[in-house]
Amino acid sequence: MEDKMYIVTLSGNDLRELSELIDKHGFPYNEKLRQAKFDSKSLNELKKALNDYPDIEIIAEKEFEPMQRDDEIKGSVTDMVNKTNRFNSKPEMDFDDDIFFEKYFNTEEIESALTFYSLKHPDITEKIKLPEKTHNGRTSNLIRIGKKGFIDVYFISGVHAREWHPPDALIYFVRKICSAFKNEKDVFIGQNTFTYEQIKSIIDKLNIYVFPLVNPDGREFSQKNDINKNWRKNRRFISENIYGVDINRNYDFLWDYEKYFSSKNTDLSNMQKFNASENYIGPYPASEPETRNVISLIINTRIKYFADVHSFDNNKNLILYSWSHSGSQSDYPEMNFKNSKYWGQYGDVYYSEYVDRKDYDLRKRLAKNMAVAATKANSSVRKYQAQTSNDMYLISGGSRDYMESRNLINQDYTSIHSFFIEASGDSFFPPLRKREIIIKDIVSALFELCVQIVSTEQMKDQT
Ligand SMILES: [Zn+2]
Repeated sequence: MEDKMYIVTLSGNDLRELSELIDKHGFPYNEKLRQAKFDSKSLNELKKALNDYPDIEIIAEKEFEPMQRDDEIKGSVTDMVNKTNRFNSKPEMDFDDDIFFEKYFNTEEIESALTFYSLKHPDITEKIKLPEKTHNGRTSNLIRIGKKGFIDVYFISGVHAREWHPPDALIYFVRKICSAFKNEKDVFIGQNTFTYEQIKSIIDKLNIYVFPLVNPDGREFSQKNDINKNWRKNRRFISENIYGVDINRNYDFLWDYEKYFSSKNTDLSNMQKFNASENYIGPYPASEPETRNVISLIINTRIKYFADVHSFDNNKNLILYSWSHSGSQSDYPEMNFKNSKYWGQYGDVYYSEYVDRKDYDLRKRLAKNMAVAATKANSSVRKYQAQTSNDMYLISGGSRDYMESRNLINQDYTSIHSFFIEASGDSFFPPLRKREIIIKDIVSALFELCVQIVSTEQMKDQT
């Protein structure tokens, strides 16, 4: 019989002592995770050796089950969804990464996680109820993180029901940033390190609004069984056997695409007025409660940075910036979406939307830095690329463009630097090991964005 293996997590602020202990005894060890795999014999040796190191203790010890996670995908994909509510516990509890990465979160868990972390970190968080109930009667909430700083930042995910890991990633983001701040510790995400100093200035200066699950009805339906798993839209009832609107086509930005796009040579297959389509834009702009919940926040805040996190069912990993309905240019201010002269011509090669050059350069730089951090997270095995949104495919009525267009339509709004993250596995339901890797990619990109925002806004203060 093979010996059991154990995953052991060590505490200890003194890294020198830790590495001495490891070196002296030849223990296997991952310094960043402060975690190692031991057989029972070396675990006993470790426990003995710790007598000489009173500052270091074992804070978690768990039997290692090597194939458990990958085995699960041989059955139904819905077996990868947790059946209980792991966040339905007292906030004194915490999770180590092993438990966090065990399974996909179910709909109820994501909602409970917001309560859990707002109770656990009341000094720096606040749970906020959103105004609209979903078609199935659910109330949605988001969590604000920060000490009421002066820059409002907004992250959303869970818009498309079958994209299971992005909402889990946003909960991981909440957990990592709050606990790093509380423990005054650097945070390690994949191969990235974010220092406590960086975390502290993020918490001091930013208000980060995190809305992890925009479309809870859709997620619940998608996770119910294998037949439903590829569900994308919300659950608006249209007629018998026809449900749902694509929330990311429902925003009030060039929503009536037939009016704005050229019909010649332009592929408009990603927007549909046919109500059974996966990309059904809805009966009218912002017809959906989920869309209105997303929008509701920007009315009462001064959101300046926005990111919407999604995934594909292939291995394309993108950080998107600038417009989705056309290319971008900074030379012809009159060539812009408000100018009716150009309506009916989007998609034609000569039309390119005007963007202020400074804004464009900033957005491009931030997107590139996010791509670098996400790629570094997984040691460059999975590459992320920054590109303009229209290079993916042409759409209108999406969240990213809606946010970027707000102050161009109404100057009461702040100008919003707006991003779209596509972080993909081979399918919408990556195996659990891969889910963990992708979550760390996403969270690295979001941490990097926060770091960049702090430094960008500081530079502005100085000029
Ligand atoms: Zn999506």
